[in-house]
Amino acid sequence: MSQVTYSGFPRIGLKRELKRALEAHWRGEISADALQDTARELRQRHWQLACAAGADVVPCNDFSLYDHVLDTAVLFDAIPERYRPVFELGHLDGYFAMARGHKRDGHDLHALEMTKWFDTNYHYLVPELQAGQSFRLAGDKPLAELLQARALGYRARPVLLGPVSFLLLSKTVDGSDRLALLDALLPAYAELLGKLAEADADWVQLDEPCLVLDLDDAARAACRRAYAVLSAANGPRILLASYFGPLGDNLSLAASLPVDGLHVDLVRAPGQLDAVLDALSPTQVLSAGVIDGRNIWRSQPDKVLPLLRKAQSRLGDARLWLAPSCSLQHVPIDLQAETALDPARRASMAFARQKIEELRIYADALAGQSEAAAALAAQQTLWDGQAQSEGVVDAGVRARLRNLSPQIALRRSSYATRRAAQAEALNLPPLPTTTIGSFPQTDDLRKARAAHRAGKLSDLAYDDGLKSEIARVVRFQEAIGLDVLVHGEPERNDMVEYFGEQLDGYLFTRLGWVQSYGSRCVKPPVIWGDIVRPAPMTVAWSSYAQSLTDKPMKGMLTGPVTMLQWSFVRDDLPRETVCRQIALALRDEVHDLEGAGIKVIQIDEPALREGLPLRHADWAHYLAWAVECFRITAGGVRDTTQIHTHMCYSEFNDIIEAVAAMDADVISIETSRSRMELLDAFVRFRYPNGIGPGVYDIHSPRVPDPAEMLDLLRKALDVLSVDQLWVNPDCGLKTRGWPEVEAALRGMVGCAKQLRSEL
Ligand code: GLN
Ligand code: ZN
Repeated sequence: MSQVTYSGFPRIGLKRELKRALEAHWRGEISADALQDTARELRQRHWQLACAAGADVVPCNDFSLYDHVLDTAVLFDAIPERYRPVFELGHLDGYFAMARGHKRDGHDLHALEMTKWFDTNYHYLVPELQAGQSFRLAGDKPLAELLQARALGYRARPVLLGPVSFLLLSKTVDGSDRLALLDALLPAYAELLGKLAEADADWVQLDEPCLVLDLDDAARAACRRAYAVLSAANGPRILLASYFGPLGDNLSLAASLPVDGLHVDLVRAPGQLDAVLDALSPTQVLSAGVIDGRNIWRSQPDKVLPLLRKAQSRLGDARLWLAPSCSLQHVPIDLQAETALDPARRASMAFARQKIEELRIYADALAGQSEAAAALAAQQTLWDGQAQSEGVVDAGVRARLRNLSPQIALRRSSYATRRAAQAEALNLPPLPTTTIGSFPQTDDLRKARAAHRAGKLSDLAYDDGLKSEIARVVRFQEAIGLDVLVHGEPERNDMVEYFGEQLDGYLFTRLGWVQSYGSRCVKPPVIWGDIVRPAPMTVAWSSYAQSLTDKPMKGMLTGPVTMLQWSFVRDDLPRETVCRQIALALRDEVHDLEGAGIKVIQIDEPALREGLPLRHADWAHYLAWAVECFRITAGGVRDTTQIHTHMCYSEFNDIIEAVAAMDADVISIETSRSRMELLDAFVRFRYPNGIGPGVYDIHSPRVPDPAEMLDLLRKALDVLSVDQLWVNPDCGLKTRGWPEVEAALRGMVGCAKQLRSEL
């Protein structure tokens, strides 16, 4: 029978047990040993759960206390010198210093840089390397986890990040070539493989997700060199794993490497199966990633079974493994915990545990078990019936989308015309000042929201509380002399959830946590049906806020691409279609805000850049529909209505054309940490519209010195025209405290006034 396996499991625990233990350890409340006990228990519980669900072989070393890329760096002693003294205090102290920084015991160390793991919402720590450095096998984590699994009676396969992906995901501090370090790194890997073989591991999995990226000749040569060395290391048999997309032009490379098996992603790239089967050598195993490790839907047997049957007929059972497309760390653990979900919705969903159960059923069906075949037939019938279930299809939105005219994405006039109309309508001073939307979310606010949710605070009392908070925020902004005000977003828990809760087609889970980084988890909402806006969402709050002031009050919306990007999205429609539906709902909101007298409307798109596909060839298509969706949202307004957008965490160099095509009247971006470097892309492009490069780093509790802000603004004025420049912080202020916000914003407004007086 074909083996059922998987390449990684969520680490954090159903009830975020790891998060709690980590944070308790960081606060000094529990020891390193107690933390390791929790980790051991979680691994054991998860293996048990996976095997009960039907896995034959489990991974080990997929677990991590913080991040598996950091684990790999530490395992091979790629530790920057500055952290070494902290390792003297204790191994975990050093490890967490690299993950989170260390500001005790006479040290003041920053953490390693963090960045997104491919196109997921998981963030890894970027190893810092330098020319000529050495590596050595400096730990036994993979071995220890193998022994733990073995002692518990599980068949386990250690999973390691492969050497080429490890180097490509790292950065060199001296700008030298990362791949030049390969020969120094390989002996450490080889030694580890030897130890795993001595411990009787029959297989090891080496993850090379870089194989789904555009690779240059040097990277390909590195792959050849690496696997030539590793296959000669007397280690276990090697499963080379690719995921997150098709191998594409790297397929012949991957298949020619001297490894014993290949894992491929057949969810994002089912079309590659034939070529993969043709490319495999007669003894190689195929680990077929047929269940979606990136989303929470049940699979469609009509799509999966033909793939598996074809693979089975070509390879036989022994050479075919069944697996999710990638590690299950990107989905929540167990749907059974979602007792409050509508049963109809729940029936179409699968979390990590249910995905392994599905794999079991497919394996049983391949082995000819009629019960399994019947279960799959029933699953397909359910899937086919979904389309008819209420809320999945909304005739109104479908018709609207069918009849979309190209006009819908156009503003009425060019930027130059709108600019003049807005200057007259808004009458703002040069270098106008504003903020990004949220003001501090105080404990009182959080408590009131929790009490309201729990039914302990009436709607009326809750609304009153919010109104007085808005009034306070408005008074404060008037007092310090800001030009375009905001209401402060006190009514919002989260910028996606707040809108999702008011739109049809979204649902929310109770324990659907997914690790974002370290102990940080997010609970992405689920888009399951057509998106419809039953009623205005923000108009009452914005109008109330506007009624308190004569200054323009900025309406505040989360953009369609961000709403999509930070959710689990239905898989029966193309993502761009779902995004257009959201765009239409938001367009109606924009229209209603304008009708209610709101003259400035900001549509936040912090996630636009992170939606970029992994292969450059796919960028243009994505950017075209992403920009179109933004423009649909913003396109309906009068020339006098000023549309803002806000993008943080973005590098603009390679998307500047798309950003310009969004044609927002004003864009605010995060620039203070990079000291205005991010502006370069706009300058080179001669970006014509308004720009607010953030001058106050809201990610830090420190109040910026006005001289610093003034300096940044002068830098910006060197390269931008004076009637283009806006003055604002980097991002929303919700995570900050009032005293620092007051001081920082007063300083910021002072700087704008100072500069105006010099004009
Ligand atoms: N308007 C949001 C806020 O101010 C923007 C958040 C974001 O950019 N991530 O909080
Ligand atoms: Zn932001």
